[in-house]
Amino acid sequence: VRRVNRRRVILLITCVVLGAIINVAVAWSCAIWSRPNVTKAFALPQAVTDDLWLRLAPLSWSIHIQKCETGPIIPHGSRQETFGLTLDVALVSRVCVVKHGPLESNSIGVFVVDWSVIEYRMGWPIRSVWANAARTSDTKELTIAGAWQFPENITWARIGRGQVLPYRPFWTGFIINSVFFAAIIWLLIRGPFEIRRRVRQYRGQCQACGYPIGSSAMCSECGAPVPRGLRPVQMK
Ligand SMILES: [Zn+2]
Repeated sequence: VRRVNRRRVILLITCVVLGAIINVAVAWSCAIWSRPNVTKAFALPQAVTDDLWLRLAPLSWSIHIQKCETGPIIPHGSRQETFGLTLDVALVSRVCVVKHGPLESNSIGVFVVDWSVIEYRMGWPIRSVWANAARTSDTKELTIAGAWQFPENITWARIGRGQVLPYRPFWTGFIINSVFFAAIIWLLIRGPFEIRRRVRQYRGQCQACGYPIGSSAMCSECGAPVPRGLRPVQMK
């Protein structure tokens, strides 16, 4: 009996580890192949947008933004949702006087500059990993946090340039998804045995070997213990 329990524990641990690996694999697959659709983006409530901005916008930005135009900074928020992927953006646009071209030329122009923060959340059935990015349109600089980035030169398998793979977990989502996939693996491994066991129980056979059971506490064929409830043959 103890050996059976140990085997079950090992099976359970294996399932949970595999479930966690599948969870990450699914989340990263969504990151790579799920394409957010800009045309289906919808506006975020202002409170959610403000929170996103406060959490993710670099502190130095407010000075730069105020230099362009003074006044309260009110970001616009939008969300794009596809299979296993949520992309939230909070954006501030200001008209700025920006130097452009080579510095020596000293040419100055008036431009609209965008500051945007992006939050990527991936995972299925629920979001389990996330990363964030910050970008300004004048420098075209994109800084990413909480993710590994594919090298720019990888273009095979429809992997986008500089594709991000988040490694920061949402623990609730991470655990729920891992258990979800672990349960599927467990069912695939144990399911057939469980069905056979139930069928043998229904037919009044030993669950271990399928030999008809009598009134003995042990199977007369293989010696496996026969549960009390099954002697003599009982149907539920
Ligand atoms: Zn038996």
